Amino acid sequence: MQASVGQPLGSRLSWPIWTADVSSEGRGELSDIADTSAVGTRLGGIAPSDLVIRSGRLLDHRVVDLVVTNGTITAVVDARTATAGPGVDIIEASGRLVTPSFVDAHLHLDKVYTQPLLGDRALEVYTGAGMAGAMTGIELAREVKRHYRAEALLPNVRRALHEGVRHGTLHVLAFVDVDTTGQLEGLRAVLAARAEVHDIVDVQVVAFPQDGLLRDPGAAELCEEALREGADVVGGIPWIEYSDADALEHVEWACSLAARTNRRVAMLVDDAGDASLRTTEMLAAAMLRHNLVGRGVACHARATGLYPQPTLLRLMGLAKQAGLSFVANPHTGPVALPVQQFDRAGLPVAFGQDDIEDAYYPYGRHSMLEVAFLASHLLEMRSGVDQLRLLDMITTQAGRVLGIEGHEVVVGATADLCVHDSERVVDLLRDHAAPRWVVSQGRIVAGTDITTTLRV
Ligand SMILES: [Zn+2]
Repeated sequence: MQASVGQPLGSRLSWPIWTADVSSEGRGELSDIADTSAVGTRLGGIAPSDLVIRSGRLLDHRVVDLVVTNGTITAVVDARTATAGPGVDIIEASGRLVTPSFVDAHLHLDKVYTQPLLGDRALEVYTGAGMAGAMTGIELAREVKRHYRAEALLPNVRRALHEGVRHGTLHVLAFVDVDTTGQLEGLRAVLAARAEVHDIVDVQVVAFPQDGLLRDPGAAELCEEALREGADVVGGIPWIEYSDADALEHVEWACSLAARTNRRVAMLVDDAGDASLRTTEMLAAAMLRHNLVGRGVACHARATGLYPQPTLLRLMGLAKQAGLSFVANPHTGPVALPVQQFDRAGLPVAFGQDDIEDAYYPYGRHSMLEVAFLASHLLEMRSGVDQLRLLDMITTQAGRVLGIEGHEVVVGATADLCVHDSERVVDLLRDHAAPRWVVSQGRIVAGTDITTTLRV
């Protein structure tokens, strides 16, 4: 697959920035985005819009026209009843599915495409033996950060965000290593890339002390500096400390800082094949102590998948009280958060891409549909009901996990949307293709046309 940038991200776009060509012959074109210069009259009773999506299929099977004004969905009306004035973009969805854009609730954005610098050793150790050696894998992966330079990382970060736009991923919770090895180089690359796409992609940056706080003296001060430079969320990785007492101190420091600076907190917790790890519980308890109810995210939390049921139920009760949300990434390790059990209990769960070609995972296209497709297999979530739950965990519910309410296809919502080639959810997941069109705040920011010429 090839993708070419037609014009820079960040400018007002009336035409898609991406063309993708996966045909054996010829080039994918975006010709069926209508030229609206000669279209119709203004909408009767509805304010002039920036965009009309005609005959889009919603998840409840209704086929409707969606009218977007100033970046907001202002009308959802019967199909073929909305009209558009001059200068308004029109997407002819022709019965295809329209969903909210995708949310990546956990991505190590500074590390993307760094795997070639490291070789396979860290990957083998991190995921091998049921993740018994996950900590050693992290120590090996640290080596790459000795070579961190913001200007060298920036093209990688930009590429991952552009890949996200192509796949409809418009919200990202981006973990960025902040420690005494890499210093603030990764952060500076991520902040520069975020600035380039700020009017298309919402990137929440987590100041993440990947190598610990007590294990890495100086990291705490760097995290505070990262917040001053533009990071949004206080990070943490308490399970990596050498003792439970140190882990607790780590959690206390992060939650106290989050409360003091009015930030959210997002931690990478209990990420090894070790059922005795309890830092998810520590995070929930600290959120209650620091009045951070509903403002915390627990990522990975794989060890919970090994807990005895009574221990797990106790944690779920505490998490509910604390308003703790969870992010799972079952494709990047052999142990996973018990997603279905948490979901059925009403705990907010989202999925994250986690890694893109780094020390921990060799693949990744920043396609949340691909992540959901993999999760469908790894978590045994295959029924029609499961498919809808998977989709929710990369769209509306994932938005909630990031503190974004109302990420839906309804009147009043921001028009962050994907118009897909598929009409059914099962096809959406099966194909896990880039959406036909991606709309950010009412603007068409990507279009992908996949063409195959069969000669049979
Ligand atoms: Zn991760």
